[in-house]
Amino acid sequence: MTYSVTPLATIPTIVADARHAFVAGATRPKQWRVSTLRRLRALVDQHESRLLDALAADFGKPRFEAWATEIGFVLSDIDHTLAHLGSWMAAEKVPTPLAFKPGTSRIVAEPLGVACVIAPWNYPVQLLLLPMIAAISAGNAVVGKPSELAASAADALAAMITELGDPAVSLVLGGVAETTELLTHRFDHILYTGNGRVARIVMRAAAENLTPVTLELGGKSPAIVSRNANIEVAARRIAWGKFVNAGQTCIAPDYVLVERPVHDALVAELDRQITAFYGSDPKASPDFARIVNAPHFHRLEKLLDAGTVAVGGETDADTRYIAPTVLTGITRGDPVMGEEIFGPILPVIAVDSLDAAIAIANADDKPLALYSFSDDHAENDYVVGRVTSGGACVNGTLLHISNPQLPFGGVGESGMGAYHGKFGFDTFSHRRGVHTRSTRLDPALLYPPYTATKSKLVRRALRVPDPRDLVAKLRRRSRRG
Ligand code: NAD
Repeated sequence: MTYSVTPLATIPTIVADARHAFVAGATRPKQWRVSTLRRLRALVDQHESRLLDALAADFGKPRFEAWATEIGFVLSDIDHTLAHLGSWMAAEKVPTPLAFKPGTSRIVAEPLGVACVIAPWNYPVQLLLLPMIAAISAGNAVVGKPSELAASAADALAAMITELGDPAVSLVLGGVAETTELLTHRFDHILYTGNGRVARIVMRAAAENLTPVTLELGGKSPAIVSRNANIEVAARRIAWGKFVNAGQTCIAPDYVLVERPVHDALVAELDRQITAFYGSDPKASPDFARIVNAPHFHRLEKLLDAGTVAVGGETDADTRYIAPTVLTGITRGDPVMGEEIFGPILPVIAVDSLDAAIAIANADDKPLALYSFSDDHAENDYVVGRVTSGGACVNGTLLHISNPQLPFGGVGESGMGAYHGKFGFDTFSHRRGVHTRSTRLDPALLYPPYTATKSKLVRRALRVPDPRDLVAKLRRRSRRG
């Protein structure tokens, strides 16, 4: 591994070069955005095997998972962006009230300037590149900071971005010291993905420059399983969502709340599905990842000390292996319920009713994801309508974030702001209102001296209803019957 940290002394130059490129107008034209995204796409393609090797080296990420959740995700995001960029960039014409005619009004998406993207280690390629793609699509220069905990991936990403050879798109490598230095510089938007503690550091630094932030954080995302759920399908989808990337997924179902009559059936089915995925010895499976580092391994190992191990439970410190594990008999006071698990440990808690499940889910901070399993859609609507979360998936897990038409972001402690698809373009844009006046007429109505007649006329003019508002009102009335 050749992981090299960016020297602190060079960080100001990297940021200044990005600023210079933006101020010079290099990043604004559609042509720059398109050609940069196309070159980035080609580079991701060319560097595919190096990136997959790096992800395997960092924490044994299976190649299938790495391609589907990182490389493929990035490629399809670029394709989606390229397909829609023209319409996203197009000015949106909006009506002008009668009182302000003659004139026209439009909303124009302006790039913000220089963006900073700080990424975590668990999906190091996707979580760095997707926000960078959004920033580029919106016409910004961007400085990215991959996580030092996935050092091989950071190294591979740095080689790729260096090959891009554009000062408007660059990376800083390193950990706390380098990120701290980076955050002393003024950015026009910061998108941070990671934990809530560091998010507060980022937001404090951003406040110094009144820089807006998008914070993509985590939390304890519940899966709520009704007695009316298809238990086999629920177990398969929960097991998949939980054990992909060995549970190191921000939107993984953190724990399960299941109605008591189907608790045992669900646990038995989870056991069957885990064996179907990884065989009777998951340690030997090439499809199961490892824990990223020793501190996380030891943190997770301690969480196994509560309740009853219904499935799995084996660990191996040397290879940082923790088996796909299901815990039962867990109470809300157990440490495993006190923090985001972020590993392959799944507590399953029996509840007497969906209302009891909702009460437990709402007692925690607002989670990043919510999963509801029932074949009765009224029940799913009931659960989704009563538990707030960043996003939600009904009768499934994780897949709500792969639709670029849906915003991806948290709420409350799980974050603020969103991206993916057009939402990413909007996050890195300023929606500027532009009103253009005709010079043919220039009534003296608004200008001093303010006479009683002018006052009367202005009051009357501003009260004249806009015909479009009248039409909308009539439509609403006719819909109501
Ligand atoms: P991490 O340790 O890799 O940290 C994230 C980034 O913060 C890194 O780039 C790191 O260098 C930087 N950082 C760390 N300490 C810092 C400091 N003191 N000052 C400035 N920067 C600092 O990743 P993590 O935080 O362990 O990531 C796991 C968390 O991220 C989990 O809570 C998970 O749910 C969340 N997460 C959220 C999403 C999402 O999209 N919402 C995605 C992945 C992970």
